[in-house]
Amino acid sequence: MVTDMTQGTQASDEVRRFIIEHHPVRGHWVRLESAWTQLRAHQELPRAVRELLGQAVSASVLLAASLKFDGELTLQLHGDGAVRLLVAQCTNDFRVRGVARFDESAGTPGDFDVPLTPGIFRRLVGNDSRFAVTVESSGTTGRGARYQGIVPLTGSSLAECLEAYFASSEQLPTRIRLVAGDERAAGLLLQRMPEEGGRTDGTDGSHAQSAWEDAERAVDVITAEQLLAESVETVLSHGCDTRDLRLFSGDAVRFSCRCNEGRVAGLLRALGAEEVRRLVREQGAVTITCEFCQRPYRFDAAEVERLFDPANAPENRSTLH
Ligand SMILES: [Zn+2]
Repeated sequence: MVTDMTQGTQASDEVRRFIIEHHPVRGHWVRLESAWTQLRAHQELPRAVRELLGQAVSASVLLAASLKFDGELTLQLHGDGAVRLLVAQCTNDFRVRGVARFDESAGTPGDFDVPLTPGIFRRLVGNDSRFAVTVESSGTTGRGARYQGIVPLTGSSLAECLEAYFASSEQLPTRIRLVAGDERAAGLLLQRMPEEGGRTDGTDGSHAQSAWEDAERAVDVITAEQLLAESVETVLSHGCDTRDLRLFSGDAVRFSCRCNEGRVAGLLRALGAEEVRRLVREQGAVTITCEFCQRPYRFDAAEVERLFDPANAPENRSTLH
């Protein structure tokens, strides 16, 4: 059997759903190995930035698994620190990709070649930073942003900021753990299920409330090393009674870039004919390299003219609405 390493999948790259019976708790667990190493293969990033990217990609899988949609979920961070832009994407069938831009004016890469602590996190994202969670549907009705939530990055970790996001958007108490190392990235999302009548504030069940608090404490004692190395059963056994754990079959997660010539052509059209023709005059051709996978797309003068020929405009090609 031939393994295609560019799109390969291993059992280690997996997301799994679980519930803890007799407790108002559900959750998702993810661990990435080959998908994580493949997606950052072309990116030279200092350690703390790399860890932030791995955490964001793990988070995108957890969010994609816990929200129902058909398309692509994007977690996009804009900041004024050393990481101006970070994008992590996951489709509903768990194809991931991600990219981070390190701004050297904020410090040398060596300054950030350190573990991702809360202090380093603040220096990476800066003071005026936010992230957007976008779900774009790709159903038969065509592409379109269906939902976007924007959250200020005020916490001391990405997990903390995401917990705030869930508290405001879904109104479900949520605990999130995210970790990324050199070889692997992993995450755990624990959510308190709505009770009968949809109440989650514990007013109609102090038992449910204390069960949720037990589960929260259980998540807090799990170490980063355990999350990276252990099976989901073992990870959860540190704080929960695994007799109550119901684990559902997993979904494979893989690295896959969705860039294609059509999307790049769309980018060039958006730049405008004048600007693109100027680039062709200066450089002989326009080359756009995909930031996620480094694949180059080259358009020579003739191809650029075809691109801006009104007969080839997208609105003239698709008349079946
Ligand atoms: Zn690509």
